[in-house]
Amino acid sequence: MSSEFDIIRRYFTRTAPQAVLGIGDDAALIDVTPGTELAVSTDTLVCDRHFFAATDPYRLGHKSLAVNLSDMAAMGAKPRWALLALTLPQQLVKHNETWLQQFSAGFFALADKHQVELIGGDTTAGPLNIGIQILGEIAKGKALRRSGAKNGDDIWVSGMLGNAALALNHELGKITLQPDEIDQCLPALLTPEPRIELGQRLIALAHSAIDISDGLLADLGHILENSGKSAVIQLESIPCSAVLKKRLPQSQALHCLLAGGDDYELCFTAPAAHREAVAGLSTELGIPLTRIGEIAAGEGLIVTDAHGKTLTLETTGYDHFTTRN
Ligand code: ADP
Ligand code: MG
Repeated sequence: MSSEFDIIRRYFTRTAPQAVLGIGDDAALIDVTPGTELAVSTDTLVCDRHFFAATDPYRLGHKSLAVNLSDMAAMGAKPRWALLALTLPQQLVKHNETWLQQFSAGFFALADKHQVELIGGDTTAGPLNIGIQILGEIAKGKALRRSGAKNGDDIWVSGMLGNAALALNHELGKITLQPDEIDQCLPALLTPEPRIELGQRLIALAHSAIDISDGLLADLGHILENSGKSAVIQLESIPCSAVLKKRLPQSQALHCLLAGGDDYELCFTAPAAHREAVAGLSTELGIPLTRIGEIAAGEGLIVTDAHGKTLTLETTGYDHFTTRN
């Protein structure tokens, strides 16, 4: 059976570190680019809470890093370094080393894509748990904060919302998707793509941003709270897949779209004067960017139908939500 040090050496140590000092000492040393601030964040994935024990380890490696990179994207930061705190069941290390091989392969495939270097971590025995810290750089004073929304800003979201939640509901047996529908929705749940480049490009265009990890209403709600603003968004304009749209009359599908979470898309606000530039960025990056509403003074978040009528969604129990008629 591998020792802790075998595991670190075999699966997580790479030669020629970019950092001043990478894995192998009591702490890593990094050389921060002059004129930048460090953006620092951490996210943990707990087995049976954030993922199923049987989840494909390659995809799990990807997702563990992806959810952390998504926080960097939301700040407009360039991710540079990661630390990985792994708690592994003894049985897994003893009987299933391909799990570790696959997990690290998925982790490093995404890390390499974004030039992120693993510079350290911790390896212990216990119930499966994956904790990642991520460090990124951003030009001083330029980070996209939740608190920057201004009156009249357009509200935008990237990609499509709700597919990850729809796939999860299917996995939990609460919704039945057809095989081709599962194929369309499952990648959003298992291998979300963090919007790293989009986040960095939005520094020049957006006033505020957040990544959607807890559902649109909750996360847009954070922008509103932090900015001291209100918003009106149109349900019909929220981008979603044909699979989800077909089911939208069902409250469960609506819940997936507005409050499902695990989307890892960006929600941002930008002045109307930047509308064309945002549309141009969408074309350039090949990422759908959709305008879903507008920021105003006051407080509260209103969702309207196609005719501008306020929808009463309080019965579905969303947080961060107020309705006005
Ligand atoms: P210490 O006992 O001083 O905390 P460890 O023996 O835990 O150090 O770790 C040795 C080295 O291996 C350190 O550089 C640490 O950051 C790194 N490391 C440990 N676990 C991991 C992991 N899962 N992924 C990447 N690096 C790791
Ligand atoms: Mg030490």
